[in-house]
Amino acid sequence: MGRRHECSDSVAYRVALWNSASLCVLPRFSFACLRERLLLPYARFPEFVRSLLGAVMTEHYDVVVIGGGMVGAALGCSLGDSGLRVAIVEDSPPPPFAADQPHDLRVSAISIASASIIKTIGAWGGLISRRCCPFRRMRVWEDRGDVEFRSEDINEPLLGYIVENRVIQLALLDRLEQFSNVDVFCPVKTKSIDYRADGSTVELEDGRRIEGRLLVAADGGFSRVRQAAGMGVSAWDYRQHALVLTVETGYVQQDITWQRFLPTGPQAFLPLDGPNASLVWYHSPDEVRRLKELPDEELLPEVAAAFPRELGDVTRIVSKGSFPLKRQHALNYTKEGVALIGDAAHMIHPLAGQGVNIGLLDAAALAQVLVSAHREGKDIGAARTLQDFERMRRRNNLLMMTTMDLFYRVFGNVHLPVKLFRNIGLGLAERIAPAKKLAMKYAMGLSGELPRLARGEAILG
Ligand SMILES: Cc1cc2nc3c(=O)[nH]c(=O)nc-3n(C[C@H](O)[C@H](O)[C@H](O)COP(=O)(O)OP(=O)(O)OC[C@H]3O[C@@H](n4cnc5c(N)ncnc54)[C@H](O)[C@@H]3O)c2cc1C
Repeated sequence: MGRRHECSDSVAYRVALWNSASLCVLPRFSFACLRERLLLPYARFPEFVRSLLGAVMTEHYDVVVIGGGMVGAALGCSLGDSGLRVAIVEDSPPPPFAADQPHDLRVSAISIASASIIKTIGAWGGLISRRCCPFRRMRVWEDRGDVEFRSEDINEPLLGYIVENRVIQLALLDRLEQFSNVDVFCPVKTKSIDYRADGSTVELEDGRRIEGRLLVAADGGFSRVRQAAGMGVSAWDYRQHALVLTVETGYVQQDITWQRFLPTGPQAFLPLDGPNASLVWYHSPDEVRRLKELPDEELLPEVAAAFPRELGDVTRIVSKGSFPLKRQHALNYTKEGVALIGDAAHMIHPLAGQGVNIGLLDAAALAQVLVSAHREGKDIGAARTLQDFERMRRRNNLLMMTTMDLFYRVFGNVHLPVKLFRNIGLGLAERIAPAKKLAMKYAMGLSGELPRLARGEAILG
């Protein structure tokens, strides 16, 4: 079974797990006894002795993934039972799930391609047994143009699922524990990341060290791995923030997600299980700050006044938060010994909910390239091997990012010709069946070159 290197409760337990060889020769201690013999002396060691211990306790892996968020954990699962030794380091795992806990503020619209990946790597049961909300319809409109996408238009039972980020991550982290070739270091902070083309070293704050032939950045938009590897980005600020509200509505569970475009920014509705929903209100940073600071009893009428009647009654605001919006794209996803995936490689405007979807495709594509290279006896960290992954993903991601930028600019534009153009565009999308189908397939992640896992196939044939 996969080892989970817990770091919170007992250093003794950690050290014992870490050095299983020494555990074999130790007499049978109780945890308390282990704590007494190992934890207390360890805690009193001066820094240089800790470093010495760290050097002795260096563990070697083929792949070291920094970040066990949705994308990093999905990569770990995709590499499960691959024959490669994999380490995942995560510093802030979500709290355990309880059916009566409030919904996570962060939710994602998961495409059919993402659902296929999660199913094929065996984590779907952990997701569905917690909670999620399937949706069958998707509507986009502004004052004149209006288009509704329905799953039956393309003979599919569903268009996707709205899932709390925490639920996706927990389902993947649970699955990771079932692989004997994957070790999860969690929760633990990374002290230093020393990137080297021929194999990188990561020092953890508890003194342990791990080395890997390939270092993978799955550590989000502000990736330390990307910085350590000296990989640049192109970036700009959208000068727009997203106010995210988890609310209780007057409706029963809904099967539609909708987005209304306004010159100030879109407003989005994402259904959650039961009468719950997630609202996203894009606006200027100042306005989002003002709204967020309002007490709930003042914010409720503002939501009622600003959102369309389709929202119905909002009976309670459960939680709220805001996010600055930034576009960022790494100039390269790979170089010798390192690869970037997920938000570490790209941050995209969330208006069409594609960030984690393209991140999961990255994870599936990278795993496919690594497993294939490993089977053929090739060096998994070689720049030439990694370029196959970059070729599969960078162009597709750039296309998705550019499409989102186009939406953002066209729908934020108040000039009459642009307004006419987009109203006509929405009208045509509603009426021309092939165009509508094409747009739906794109949003569901079913177009372009897909990694095998996204097609529901085993990682290699
Ligand atoms: C308002 C909003 C709405 C969105 N809605 C959608 C949507 O509907 N659909 C969609 O597809 N996307 C959506 N996104 C985008 C999506 O949330 C991101 O693309 C996604 O979270 C990226 O996942 P990730 O695993 O790459 O990075 P992250 O989610 O940032 O995860 C990185 C992980 O790495 C860990 N970490 C970081 N540094 C270290 C370190 N040094 N050591 C150890 N661990 C570390 C963190 O704790 C974290 O768990 C939305 C984004 C926003 C802002």
